[in-house]
Amino acid sequence: MRILVTGGAGFLGSHLCERLILLGHEVIALDNLYTGEKKKLTDVISHPNFEFIRQDVTSPLNFEVDAIMNLACPASPVHYQKFPVQTIKTSVLGAINVLDLANRLKVPVFQASTSEVYGDPSVSPQVESYWGNVNPIGIRACYDEGKRSAETLFFDFHRQYGTEIKVARIFNTYGPRMSLTDGRVVSNFIVQALKNESITIYGDGSQTRSFCYVSDLIDGFVKLMFSDSSVTGPINLGNPTEFTMLELAQNVIELTGSKSKITFHDLPQDDPKQRKPDTSKAKSVLDWEPKIDLLDGLQRTIEEFKTRVK
Ligand code: UDP
Repeated sequence: MRILVTGGAGFLGSHLCERLILLGHEVIALDNLYTGEKKKLTDVISHPNFEFIRQDVTSPLNFEVDAIMNLACPASPVHYQKFPVQTIKTSVLGAINVLDLANRLKVPVFQASTSEVYGDPSVSPQVESYWGNVNPIGIRACYDEGKRSAETLFFDFHRQYGTEIKVARIFNTYGPRMSLTDGRVVSNFIVQALKNESITIYGDGSQTRSFCYVSDLIDGFVKLMFSDSSVTGPINLGNPTEFTMLELAQNVIELTGSKSKITFHDLPQDDPKQRKPDTSKAKSVLDWEPKIDLLDGLQRTIEEFKTRVK
């Protein structure tokens, strides 16, 4: 198949492009390089089945492809809050553009949605039927409501035009090639530990996240993308093992043998207190479950970070 991957030069996009090429597909990767980086595509850039195009997903899309995977959107709170108007435009206009293209070509379209649609959840673990608890005017809303609107558009295109859709709700994911300056908790802690600098915990560190190793997540993407046309999602993809940020910091310090000390800082506004996916739907519908535990995944990530942290 020839597959269009928007956000192809991002952390997840680049891992996805590599996997699709490995599976024998042709890939057109689109990225405006706001948070994506061409160097993430080093391993595929000169492959004959790969093509990179610098374009914003909010500009009209005109490609002849057999499937579309829409990953374009800054995902780190630091980045998406820097240009909030562009963030919501990317999600909403990007969704309209990929859906219009999918509808015209009559091809399936995958949406990289997010656990952020659950906001600061009042139920745990989060199951797909939970509608979420999102502040519509807070500093995270440009991302949360953008992604929620994108899901609405996907399901409305499906109901109104019969567009084949595949919606994945992605929980926190980490691994090699995360940007060192992403501002994400895993990348921040590893960089700080490798430099023996303070490990910056926001709040008291009791908030939880569940971290999925990138190769596990990409397995889930591929299974969902190539699932039966009746499978629309939304389907949670993430690792259900929950950790506090304090536990994460201690694990990173231990694995790196760092001399770093933990320091505590203000908790950002609307920071979710807990996050843990219910993955039973992914297991029953896709026969997918993550295999790599946090210590193993952190070790692999730390090894790759060591080659970049000076
Ligand atoms: N966090 C932290 N220290 C950091 C960066 C993040 O304690 O240096 C916290 C953040 O406040 C949140 C959690 O770690 O509670 C996960 O943050 P991240 O930005 O990675 O992703 P989120 O799940 O919030 O989108």
